[in-house]
Amino acid sequence: MAIHITEDCINCGACEPECPNNAIYEGGVEWAFADGTTVKGEVTMLDGSVIEATSKHAPVAEDIYYIVPDKCTECVGFHEEPQCAAVCPVDCCLPDPEHVENEEQLLAKKAKMHL
Ligand code: SF4
Ligand code: SF4
Repeated sequence: MAIHITEDCINCGACEPECPNNAIYEGGVEWAFADGTTVKGEVTMLDGSVIEATSKHAPVAEDIYYIVPDKCTECVGFHEEPQCAAVCPVDCCLPDPEHVENEEQLLAKKAKMHL
């Protein structure tokens, strides 16, 4: 399951540098799959669409930090617990019910991003 950031975010920025997948972005900033990963070329997304790893995409949120679900592995394979949730001072990094995945799927996601 990916983690998502709720509207309680106070934009402190503490979570962003903690993410091993570079899945967290400041509000209003465009994201790319290749940011902080070793992915090159085309990437198949969770919804089946195919994108170019370096292509820039519209921010998921404009006013608060956000997490790209396709890049979040819940820190599986890196840490015992989601690092964003561990450092967030207002506990607004929560499981995203719209992106439920098991450990096997999360490990496969990690393998895809870090060759
Ligand atoms: S749970 Fe881990 S991988 Fe997902 S956004 Fe938070 S720090 Fe990044
Ligand atoms: S640590 Fe929490 S409050 Fe701070 S930017 Fe991240 S999600 Fe927002």
